[in-house]
Amino acid sequence: MDYSKFINPHASQRNPSLIREMTQMLATAEPGTIFMAGGFPNPEMFPFESVDVRVDANIQVHLEGSALSAALQYQPTLGYPPLRDELKRLIYRDHKPPKFDDMDGLVTIGSQHGLSGIFGVILQNGDPVVVPQPVYSSALAIMDPYRPVYLAVPEDSLGMQPALLKSILDKWSSSNSHEQLPKILYVNPTGTNPTGAVIPTERKREIYQIAEEYDLLIIEDDPYYYLHFEEDDPVSFLSMDTSCRVIRLESFSKVFSSGIRVGFAFGPKPIIRQLELLTQHTVLHCSSLSQVIVHRILEQWGPAGFTEHTKKVKAFYRNRRNLMVSAAEKHLTGLAVWDVPRGGMFLWMKVLGLKDTYQMLMQRGIKQGIMLLPGKEFMPDRSITYPYVRASYSVASHDDIDKGEVISARTALSSYIY
Ligand code: PMP
Repeated sequence: MDYSKFINPHASQRNPSLIREMTQMLATAEPGTIFMAGGFPNPEMFPFESVDVRVDANIQVHLEGSALSAALQYQPTLGYPPLRDELKRLIYRDHKPPKFDDMDGLVTIGSQHGLSGIFGVILQNGDPVVVPQPVYSSALAIMDPYRPVYLAVPEDSLGMQPALLKSILDKWSSSNSHEQLPKILYVNPTGTNPTGAVIPTERKREIYQIAEEYDLLIIEDDPYYYLHFEEDDPVSFLSMDTSCRVIRLESFSKVFSSGIRVGFAFGPKPIIRQLELLTQHTVLHCSSLSQVIVHRILEQWGPAGFTEHTKKVKAFYRNRRNLMVSAAEKHLTGLAVWDVPRGGMFLWMKVLGLKDTYQMLMQRGIKQGIMLLPGKEFMPDRSITYPYVRASYSVASHDDIDKGEVISARTALSSYIY
């Protein structure tokens, strides 16, 4: 594939940073190589004697001496090499990408960093972009300043609908020149934020084929991959990527820690190289300490231990989902409708008989003691009103979930009489 058409003129002007390139070379340099190229501060002057992290009685991280120095020092932009290797192994284990050798990975500061970086190297002002509707609000927030034309593909309970994707693209391409065709299809396939859908494999295959037909890069933003409630793990777009067009964004935020800020972008080498250059010049790299801690824990867990952990996470969220759905059934039946989430941490509801949940939630909801997100946030076209609400069931206690739905019902009811 020729990736040059995907790289915007701004990104294609970006030169590598020699210091960052040499830092990368140092990772594989002959032992004993004297490094005087970088502006590395001397770790002897860092005020840390040791760092200890305890997961449980068996899994602990103790850093001192040279291991601690590495964890406190600059690292290559692509990532702390042992973590990057481990994450590539995990990608291979879980997705077996057909074009694995033509792809590369960069440790990101969570998937949001990967997302903004990828959009930053591809998008140009006014570009058409394919997105699901509704769509992750912070993806819109990154794209909005480019004033793109959102080719919004409505979702149903199983996520983005291939037949609608095809007809939207056919229509667009019949009335626009070749240069005005979209380059990106953004999708958040597992436990979709905000709808909780999990796109089934067959649907993904159809979407993938359409992406091939229209030569689109698929940005597979999948931070809830381990938070689905299905029998089998989803088959990712990456795992069906025979033409090397998927950029997969992984995140440790939902299963490890959202504050530790570690994710992984994996995709075609030329695109990851562009993300690397952008990262070289902006944030240099993801926190070394975070990367070392994640690596040490993954190393001690081993692949089986990691899977054990993600199973626990899934069970926890499945239980929360069930609590949320029962509370909604109890208090909101007749006031709202929803699909039972198949993954993720959100219940997406349509409030019946109401045009605008924005007013309902921002004016009356907060006063009554409930904060929920109005559906408008997730809509590519925010110039009109919407009857949707997104409720998160991840952190509220059992009692609060129930109470929250009681207040939601009261808020919805009070909205009808305004
Ligand atoms: N993508 C989606 C769909 C999300 O819901 C989130 C978190 N809200 C992110 C990306 C960003 O996650 P992080 O940067 O913490 O990995």
